[in-house]
Amino acid sequence: MGNHKKKRSQNGNLNRWIPDPMAVTWTEKYSDTINNFWKILPSTVRQSLATISIFLVGISINGDWVNIFVHIARQFGYTGRGKNSSGDVLFKWSEMSLESLGLQDFWSYWMYSCLVSYLMYFVIGGFLHWYFYVRRRDRAEEWKCQPKKWLSPELERHEIILGSLTLFLNASTSALLACYIANGGYSTVYYNVADYGWLWFFLQWPVIFIYQDYVTYWMHRIYHTPFLYRNFHKLHHKYKQPTAFSVTAIHPVEALHIQLMDILPLFIIPTHWFPFYVVALYTYYHGIIDHSGVNFKAYWWQPWQPDAIFHDNHHQYFHVNFAFNIDYWDKLHGTYRRKDRVYTEDIFYGKGKRIDEVSAEELKADLKERESENPLAYRDNKMEFKLSNRELKAMKRPKK
Ligand SMILES: [Zn+2]
Ligand SMILES: [Zn+2]
Repeated sequence: MGNHKKKRSQNGNLNRWIPDPMAVTWTEKYSDTINNFWKILPSTVRQSLATISIFLVGISINGDWVNIFVHIARQFGYTGRGKNSSGDVLFKWSEMSLESLGLQDFWSYWMYSCLVSYLMYFVIGGFLHWYFYVRRRDRAEEWKCQPKKWLSPELERHEIILGSLTLFLNASTSALLACYIANGGYSTVYYNVADYGWLWFFLQWPVIFIYQDYVTYWMHRIYHTPFLYRNFHKLHHKYKQPTAFSVTAIHPVEALHIQLMDILPLFIIPTHWFPFYVVALYTYYHGIIDHSGVNFKAYWWQPWQPDAIFHDNHHQYFHVNFAFNIDYWDKLHGTYRRKDRVYTEDIFYGKGKRIDEVSAEELKADLKERESENPLAYRDNKMEFKLSNRELKAMKRPKK
């Protein structure tokens, strides 16, 4: 142990360690201490701790823990303290107040939402950084999607600063929603399964999941068109080797846009809070896994779910693989990565360019990118996009 620290200092990073609130270098400084503690835990405990951490960071990055909290309270009969807890908000401009807006106690919700979310983001997020990266930095070829390439310390810091800003915005929106719901504001959320029957209770799981994933696919794809890409989404693509912290490192406008689209079902269809937030948890969990840069693979019971390399490819090759939890959308719309195509940041619209259309330099750069991938991140541990000389020759031959 301690070897990885030496490696980092060779890059000039940890020579003089200064506590930096916007970097997780503390996990590197205390790596040996954390590891001494970690070593004595049974492996099942370690596994569970890691999984719980991913979920905790997941519900914190959008501030959604406060919504879950409110729904549990309402499930058990809490109806709010405000005078509008009956559900009808009597609004008059002359008597404008938080109470008249159905937002009694908003500032407490807001404070707790931000405070707890930041604490989880930095502390548990820091732990995940240690768990994914610091702990086994020396053996990257065993687990990393792009084992030869690392995000620079500057970009690691960049994604935490941007992520913190987005977190503030999302946690504030969540606090607003939670407070409004707690005070009995209008929504189509229900708590008693019998209100709409068991059939709808079970049907809404796939309805919510498919709605959110398909909408996110299209939004993501639209944010990859030249204007929106250059002005907003490009920020998220500074990280060619994404890490768990990249997941919320997106432009605030885009972050808010996604959040508002995601909560829409709470206002238009009868939604039981439980499936809604379990689906949200699933999505956040995979957001972290898919950005982790680690060769995680989907389980047998998730046939819709791509492996982590799918979104890692999106960061490495830019305009391709726009989906998140259901890769079928890309297959359906022809934006799934193809072996016979070249993708770069300048080739828009998700279809890439044919091998016989690109310049020699572009092809050379592309083949080099492919070489830097890890076969262990693919199914059967075989590099899915590696081109043999014979295949390459056949593709370069002009079509008749
Ligand atoms: Zn993107
Ligand atoms: Zn991403």
